[in-house]
Amino acid sequence: MKHKFATCLNCMDGRVQLPVIQWIKENYDVDYIDMITEAGMDGVLANKRFKLKNILKKIGISIGKHKSRIIFIVGHYDCSGNSVDEKTHKIHILKAVQRIKSFTSSCQIIGLWVTREFLVEIVE
Ligand SMILES: [Zn+2]
Repeated sequence: MKHKFATCLNCMDGRVQLPVIQWIKENYDVDYIDMITEAGMDGVLANKRFKLKNILKKIGISIGKHKSRIIFIVGHYDCSGNSVDEKTHKIHILKAVQRIKSFTSSCQIIGLWVTREFLVEIVE
């Protein structure tokens, strides 16, 4: 039986790795999550001046080699890399979803928000 992978664009913050991995595994039919991190990933992706080359290369490996068909983009409470309020985080997450969508038409892309209590919610 082949393992199923998902791709996750997450903050580097050590507090949000396990909650996000556990939530994805509980809610989607995947075995492993390829984690691509930056400090304040949602803000990075929402910033048009930031060049996506390195991140897209990693997404390409996850899709091409691991056959991932779902990408999660995460923002979280108390983020030091993107220190904006919750409302702005959610705007950044949605902008990031749209931006990544324009490069990867074969994947479903889902925005996630990690709350103060480390609960994971879908951003719509
Ligand atoms: Zn962060």
